[in-house]
Amino acid sequence: MFIGHFAVGFAAKRVAPRTNLAVLIAAALFLDILWPIFVLLGWEKVRIDPGNTRFVPLAFIHYPWSHSLAMSMLWASGFALVYYASTRYRPGALMVWGGVVSHWILDWISHGPDMPLYPGGPRVGLALWNSIPGTIAVETLLLAGGVGLYVAVTRGRDRVGHYAFWAYVFFLVSAYIVDGFSAPPSSVDQLVVVGVIASAVLILWAWWFDRHREPRPVR
Ligand SMILES: [Zn+2]
Repeated sequence: MFIGHFAVGFAAKRVAPRTNLAVLIAAALFLDILWPIFVLLGWEKVRIDPGNTRFVPLAFIHYPWSHSLAMSMLWASGFALVYYASTRYRPGALMVWGGVVSHWILDWISHGPDMPLYPGGPRVGLALWNSIPGTIAVETLLLAGGVGLYVAVTRGRDRVGHYAFWAYVFFLVSAYIVDGFSAPPSSVDQLVVVGVIASAVLILWAWWFDRHREPRPVR
């Protein structure tokens, strides 16, 4: 799952309007922020494997620390506690927790049966990635729903709040399409480095435009 995770971040703004969107997106992406770091450290293993699923040319050989259900709950609790300790904002902390765990659930739907329930435990996955139209339909609908909720509760205060936001949505969709139809990454190093840079840029970008948006007055 790719843009579906962003959808969760956008949607969470409805419950936690005072939390910056960047935090909510970082929560929804959190397991994929840890993953490249753990791969670089050699704690987790991935192999370029064209045809592994029809949509994603990767074999996730070993990733229990970033992508098991049990660890996702642990990371979620850690992130939510740190967030709550620094803001005392309960809806935000709840959405951070839910966002981190939602990543596992969405990945469980899309990945092949390689998602551990706990380190060393059984591996599960519904393999939506074996259907290209199914994958694109589910992710696009999720993103449309998330963005729809976000737009229903926030509005641009100025040009940045308006254009930088819509440019972001456009970028997400185009990057998703290009990525889906381009050749597999040439190496795991390339995959990991692109992953780290993309997360960093997309989180900072969200931080920027979200500060230029305000709650929509309730009619
Ligand atoms: Zn993931």
